[in-house]
Formats: sequence, structure tokens, C-alpha cells
Amino acid sequence: MRIEVIMERCEGHGICAELAPDAYSLDHEGYVVFAHDGGEVPPSAQAAAAAGARACPVAALLVREA
Ligand code: SF4
Repeated sequence: MRIEVIMERCEGHGICAELAPDAYSLDHEGYVVFAHDGGEVPPSAQAAAAAGARACPVAALLVREA
């Protein structure tokens, strides 16, 4: 599973990183960055990563199933 981000949408709410710290973190301005290269999410973090994507209030995170 891979996550894509539409950076123009991200408003730095941080909900994704709060729900799934193994998949998302925030840069120094509060915008999302991936915890893993290329947005690849290891199996152990996939459920949380999907929940974080669903919770994004501006729908900036897209889940791509491999
Ligand atoms: S929840 Fe959405 S808007 Fe907030 S940091 Fe994450 S991707 Fe950006």
C-alpha cells in the first residue's frame, strides 16, 4: 500500500500524524511528510495510515493499493 499526498490541499491540521505516527509526520511548518520513502506503508502501519487518510479534513491523502 502506498499513500499519495496532494500538497496543495494540506493545511497542516496534523490529524494524520496524530492517528498514524508510523506513517505520517509533520515538517517544521506542520505539513505532512511521509515516515517511509515514497509513501510506501509497511503492513503493520497500513490500517492506521488508511484511517489517517480518511480523517484528513481536506482529503489531501490518497490511498493506493498495490
Ligand atoms: S490531516 Fe490532512 S491537512 Fe492535516 S497534515 Fe495531514 S494531510 Fe495535511
